Amino acid sequence: MNSLSSVKIIDGKAAAARVLREVRIEVEQLMRVGIQPGLAVVLVGSDPASQVYVRNKVLRAEETGIRSIEHKLPADTGEAALLELIERLNADPAVNGILVQLPLPNHIDEHRVLQAIDPLKDVDGFHAENVGGLSQGREVLTPCTPAGCMRLLQDSCGELAGKHAVVIGRSNIVGKPMAALLLKAHCTVTVVHSRSSNLRELCRQADILVAAVGKPRLVDASWLKPGAVVIDVGINRIEEDGKSRLVGDVDFDSALSQVSAITPVPGGVGPMTIAYLMQNTVTAARLQRPALLSHSTFAEASCPSIS
Ligand code: NDP
Repeated sequence: MNSLSSVKIIDGKAAAARVLREVRIEVEQLMRVGIQPGLAVVLVGSDPASQVYVRNKVLRAEETGIRSIEHKLPADTGEAALLELIERLNADPAVNGILVQLPLPNHIDEHRVLQAIDPLKDVDGFHAENVGGLSQGREVLTPCTPAGCMRLLQDSCGELAGKHAVVIGRSNIVGKPMAALLLKAHCTVTVVHSRSSNLRELCRQADILVAAVGKPRLVDASWLKPGAVVIDVGINRIEEDGKSRLVGDVDFDSALSQVSAITPVPGGVGPMTIAYLMQNTVTAARLQRPALLSHSTFAEASCPSIS
């Protein structure tokens, strides 16, 4: 049992503000050599949640000095027209990063669209070239949410090498790249999912637990090793006491009795995702001009390569 006052609540808003300040400085450096990083954001259809995400991304870009270029297409846009737009953005030297807001309408093949993006402009890190590079421990554009989680971990636990990390969830967007980054940082990594047996027992062995499931308050104190560091990626909207609220995959109040550090929801991982989209845009601008690459170009630069 913990003394609650010794638990560190990891402040994702403050960490994201630090990342955005670093990005702004990098943008200023690039502008001194005549480059203003550009981010193209493509939205197909008018899903209200996607519209909010896109608006937030454009706002953050403006705050950091990144030029954002919005492409809003009607819901009935055909796959060929979308691929044509991506081809144009790939060829446009003023566009350093391309983000296609997911999900796409059902009539469009998401995989084909993501594969059409130039891997050097793939600021979401979803192209097979970047996914493969990450699993080989190479320095590539890395999915924003796991990159943000790594920064929170590095800031709050220091040395990660040798720690046992358990990741709940194996999605391409969060779980798998998170596991790859933890491995790259020399953790011992276990990935569990909906078919895992002994889920709770496996989680109880974790020095670091990353929950990316999408099930409100799945993890409570009985799943946690005393002193564990918990990163809660989950964002779940629930109705409680007549109010609509956001909760994570971890029962925050219950977990406090066991953990040494934990991210809240909201205000934990969420703000880091957009911050790392901006970081990736600057990284992409440098990657496209190798002369501008520096030692600190990559978000995960502090995790030594395993290659
Ligand atoms: P997915 O639905 O793609 O993946 C969920 C994963 O959880 C799957 O691997 C699934 O297993 C596993 N899972 C489901 N139920 C259980 C269970 N009962 N026990 C163990 N594992 C289970 O979700 P995402 O990875 O895209 O997102 C996960 C959560 O993170 C969501 O709440 C999402 O909203 C949030 N999110 C937050 C972001 C942020 O910026 N903070 C960004 C992205 C996502 P299986 O593979 O076997 O089906």
